[in-house]
Order: sequence, then C-alpha cells, then structure tokens
Amino acid sequence: MSSRNHFLQVHELLESDRFVLSHKSDIVVQGDKFVWRYHELALEELVEAEFILLEQDAEFDLIAVEISEDSSSSLLSESKNLWSLLFMDGEDPFSVAGKARQLLDWYKTHRFCGECGSKTIHHGSERALVCEPCNKHYFPRINPCAIMLVHRGPQMLLAQSSRIKTGFYSCLAGFVEIGETPEETVKREVMEEVGIEVHNIRYFKSQSWPFPSQLMLAYFAEYKSGDITPDPSEIEDAAWFDIDNLPKMPGANVSVAGELIHHFIESVKQENFE
Ligand SMILES: [Zn+2]
Repeated sequence: MSSRNHFLQVHELLESDRFVLSHKSDIVVQGDKFVWRYHELALEELVEAEFILLEQDAEFDLIAVEISEDSSSSLLSESKNLWSLLFMDGEDPFSVAGKARQLLDWYKTHRFCGECGSKTIHHGSERALVCEPCNKHYFPRINPCAIMLVHRGPQMLLAQSSRIKTGFYSCLAGFVEIGETPEETVKREVMEEVGIEVHNIRYFKSQSWPFPSQLMLAYFAEYKSGDITPDPSEIEDAAWFDIDNLPKMPGANVSVAGELIHHFIESVKQENFE
C-alpha cells in the first residue's frame, strides 16, 4: 500500500486511477457502468473538483469525485441516485457508490470547524479534516442503527412506515441513542413504535447502509407481552403475519431487513423457530 494522500488534486491523479463520480448527490452512470477510467474524465472540467481516495488496490486506486453543481461536463448525461444502484447487478455498485457518497457528504459538511467556524484543512496522512486553531480532528462518522424482526411463535411482526411511503411492510428500526447498547435500542424502539415488550434478543448480522451514513445492526427479538399499538407518527400499520400470508416486503438480497425476514421464513419452514 502506497502512502498516497487521502485528498488529491487533479495534477496528482495517475493514469491507472479509476473514479466514481458524484453530482448533486447522484452517482454518474452510463448504463451499468459507474466506475470511470482516467482517460474518460474531462480533466479540464475537473480542475476545481475535490478528489478523495476511496480504496487502494494492487491494480488501481479508486477515487471519489464531486462534480460541481453547475458543471456542464459532458460526463453528466446520465446519473442515478443510490437507491437505484441497489438494484444493479452484483453487490459492488451499491457498496462502492455508497462509500463514495458518504465520504463526499462528510467532506462537504466538514469544511468548517463546528466549534470556532474556521476553515478546516486536509490531514497530512489520515482521512480526516483538521481545525488548526482548535487542534480538532474530524473523521468520517457512521451512525449505528438497530433493526429487528419481532416474532411470536411462527408469526412475525411487520410494519409499514408512516414517513417513507413505499407500500412495503418491513422490520422495525431505529437509531442507537447515546449511552445505549443496541439491545437496549431494540427494546425501546419496539415499545415506542408498536407498544410491545420483547426479550430474548439475538444478534443476526450487520450491514453498511448509506442512507445517509448508517451501520445497521440486525437482531431477532421474541415477543413477551402487549398488544400492537402503532405510534402514528412513525408507523402507518403493523400486524402479525404468518409466512403463508405475507404482505409486500423487501427482497432477500438487498437489505438486511429482507435477510432477517427471509431467514425467519426459512426457519419456520424447518420448524426450528423458538
Ligand atoms: Zn475550530
């Protein structure tokens, strides 16, 4: 691994570099293609652009580029939001573009110190922005969230969000609050959102989720007591579902919510649910 800086200027780019381009929060694509080669960039249009090193590989380095909002670059004929990349083939487009989007967002929102308002500068060797007067370092942040599938015997509790109207029923989820363990978040969120007490909370797996910068920690939680009482500010509808009578749900291979649900369905089919 070379000691290349995390922040680059146009004259520091290499012909072997590859690029993920972002414009107005979208990712620049051409059909299924979203990674661009050096010779495909119109470099004269990117003199003012910010380049952030994303990944280093034996063959090439991957670099995220923010193209200015008013750019008339010829590359901008097509761009897609991150959501639509979720459904592109393979796991890579989404995770690479998600990482690019999160780093560029972090960079954009930390150009000034939150404490004294001075302009931040690039750290010499780390991916961090620095306020010199305060001697403060700003690193990219992620926000942990707990997502949980509540089950009662062979039934699972699925809910429709009242904020994001997709028509899908899915798992409950919420941000881990300061001072909380994710297991405590599971208990609190389920109580707040649907008025149910859960226990026997088991960790399942995790997923990076760039909407905007979340780390999803997925759990199964067993019903203990209470009746479903949705909080209307969060939940449009919530109900117990049998696996042979399911609503419109997220796919198994896109989000960890879908994986939780489909893992539970499989375990009910094999009758080894608890
Ligand atoms: Zn400062």
